Amino acid sequence: MITRTKYNPKEIEAKWQTQWEAEQLYHAPDDSPKPKFYHLVMLPYTSGDLHMGHWYNYSGFDAYGRFKRMHGYNVMQPMGFDAFGLPAENAAISRGIQARTWTLANVDKMRHQLRTMGAGWDWQREIVSCLPGYYKWTQWLFLQFYKQGLAYRTKAPANWCPSCNTTLANEQVLPNGTCERCGTTVIRKDIDQWLLRITNYAEELLDFSKIEWPAKTVTMQRNWIGRSEGAEIRFFAEFDEQREEIPVFTTRPDTIYGATFFVLAPEHPWVEKITTPEHKGEVEAYVDQARHMTEVERMSTEKEKTGVFTGGYVTNPVNGEQVPVWIADYVLMGYGSGAIGGVPAHDQRDFEFARKFGIPVREVIRQEGELPGDPVTWTEAQEHLGVMVNSGPFDGTPADEAIARVTRYLEEQGIGRFMITYRLRDWLISRQRYWGAPIPIVYCPNHGMVPVPEEQLPVWLPEHVEFKPTGESPLRYNPEFVNTTCPICGGPATREIDTMDGFMDNSWYFLRYADPHNDQQAWSDEAMRRWLPVDLYIGGAEHAVMHLLYARFFIKALRDMGHLDFDEPFTRLFHQGTVLGPDGQKMSKSRGNVEAPDDYVAKYGADTVRSYMMFMGPYDQGGSFIPENLEGVWRFLNRFWSLATEAWVENPSSEETQESTAIERLRNKTIKRVTEDLTNFRFNTALAALMECNNALIKQQHEPVARNAAFRNTLETMMQLLAPMAPHITEELWHITGHTGSIHLTEWPGYDEALTQDETFTLVVQVNGKVRERIEVAAHTSEREIRMLALNNPRVASFIGEATVQKVIYVPGRLINIVVRKS
Ligand SMILES: [Zn+2]
Ligand SMILES: [Zn+2]
Repeated sequence: MITRTKYNPKEIEAKWQTQWEAEQLYHAPDDSPKPKFYHLVMLPYTSGDLHMGHWYNYSGFDAYGRFKRMHGYNVMQPMGFDAFGLPAENAAISRGIQARTWTLANVDKMRHQLRTMGAGWDWQREIVSCLPGYYKWTQWLFLQFYKQGLAYRTKAPANWCPSCNTTLANEQVLPNGTCERCGTTVIRKDIDQWLLRITNYAEELLDFSKIEWPAKTVTMQRNWIGRSEGAEIRFFAEFDEQREEIPVFTTRPDTIYGATFFVLAPEHPWVEKITTPEHKGEVEAYVDQARHMTEVERMSTEKEKTGVFTGGYVTNPVNGEQVPVWIADYVLMGYGSGAIGGVPAHDQRDFEFARKFGIPVREVIRQEGELPGDPVTWTEAQEHLGVMVNSGPFDGTPADEAIARVTRYLEEQGIGRFMITYRLRDWLISRQRYWGAPIPIVYCPNHGMVPVPEEQLPVWLPEHVEFKPTGESPLRYNPEFVNTTCPICGGPATREIDTMDGFMDNSWYFLRYADPHNDQQAWSDEAMRRWLPVDLYIGGAEHAVMHLLYARFFIKALRDMGHLDFDEPFTRLFHQGTVLGPDGQKMSKSRGNVEAPDDYVAKYGADTVRSYMMFMGPYDQGGSFIPENLEGVWRFLNRFWSLATEAWVENPSSEETQESTAIERLRNKTIKRVTEDLTNFRFNTALAALMECNNALIKQQHEPVARNAAFRNTLETMMQLLAPMAPHITEELWHITGHTGSIHLTEWPGYDEALTQDETFTLVVQVNGKVRERIEVAAHTSEREIRMLALNNPRVASFIGEATVQKVIYVPGRLINIVVRKS
């Protein structure tokens, strides 16, 4: 028997959370006959506690998952923890606590916070990336890449502190380029590192035809991969009478006759041999200076061009010209070949460089029909395509043939070739750090580099280590870890002490969710067939390139190895917006505007906090978290609670006495609005529709219509429509109003399209008392509008003709009579 009660979220939320978990309501069984919906949210990093940004992300995410569940899907909505990384090491150093202890305590705390949300997490599938049961398979994956030649070791640049004698992560280098520990200027130093050959997949990664992703993210990935077509041209020089070639890549081979200088990256191996003794000092000083700059600084178009002449020359193979060789930091070693032919007339950066150093600018491309230009007067490069001039045998070649014709010539002469280059570089996965998955490689004095046999995995990461004051990896000084035996000869050997980057862990976690307890394999084929690919992936746009690109690469590489049979990890992707602090600024510890959910949940309950986060604005846009605004949502839930409970108290049994079309229309319209809004992640407007419906019902709650079955039926529908956003209050109301079974397993209400239209009536139009027309008019149309409709109706107008309208008589909701007199 229902009684009047106050809405008490504290009591009902804890109760339902416990009950849902006991009933495993949100566990997605592997053997369900329902269609699957793999609903994934980016897993959180184990920083210690969840903030409003997490809640914002998960609130909309969970609402959408519930919406799909009510549409009959077997929704798999797992949660896990990205648990390796540098902050744990920093905490270990600053607080004298083991990284593992710190991390697992954070996991506990976050798990608790996640439970208070009442979201539909499938906890049976949880993964924690720092536990051996997980990282064993990260290591196994590394071995698969290694076997395929996709993982390799080479010298690669790292941030290096010469005083601490250790590498630094980017976040350990202060903005002024010094070591955060000792203040020494950080340099770039080449050390042995592990990389994955993602560049093998550059071309396929440019194909987005199988996935539905935000256009902006697709563009960012395309730019990151940076494909360009052009030609390799081989300049040359003689050293000790030996001709040596130095290739350059250009997208504009048609401008090759305009090369008036040549630039090497400061790190280029030719720098030393081409520099003449007179220029040695200056060149070495410049190379040293360039080592202290980041690539971003070097690439900046704002930065004034710098460089030094080496004293040496190379030969342009198309015309035999001797071209002076410079070094300049705007040319990077990793892109192309680390060398360029400088064409100042037709490349802006080369133009700026030439102007600065007084290098000649030679026009070799001209717009059709134009007179020769005078490059001395130019203020910028002419980068457009055009007719070739000052280009020997190519003079007069039109724009649309120039590139192809020169490229063909280069190939015929054996001095160059057609080429595609990518900006994308191989993915550096090794970290000279402790808190990561150990790389399963052993170094034997006799056999060199030997992969750890799969059956010996995992390579255990020691749980208790000692940190050196210098910041060096504690693994280096951990004899139990370092000293091992060679898998081939059994002799003494040492382990690789580098660990894997956290991006390795989170490039495949969504595969493990499908088969989280498998201790024989990373996953079974069956689990992949059942659950993958992910149907919808929700997470921040800041992951547009690295994480999302690495995950795509993993899937393609694993498919080619035969471990999977699909091409893309995430069929559909959605980026939620960012929650700002009450001051409209990005939440950050330094600004002191970080808001945690816990106090608000304690005060208002999770349903209010969740609903408020979704009411803030469009889900993909975010907004400012303003604590006072929680009140509005809190009042709405309270009013809905009172309205619903009151309706059952007042009318223990309802009847069918009253005309109920208006209520039925309201119900159907609200279903339609909420359904369309939730389909499109418009949680804010869905809630607005429910608030409007609530207000409309409150106005009528003491009228006779409230005794009608349709009234209660509308309240029941509202409970279902609100359930994705506010799962606890709706579950409680569902039960106290006499329903059995969870509201979250009910079928989403359908609607009758006809009943979603505005109510209309047939307006009879008379002219001088004779019926001339009938018009369908919306119920709430004003008298003024009805007069206009009648008078402007073409048929009515034809009966009025030239006559003068004397008066118009309107009988509301039925009839209009136009009285006219012939003029
Ligand atoms: Zn240092
Ligand atoms: Zn050996």
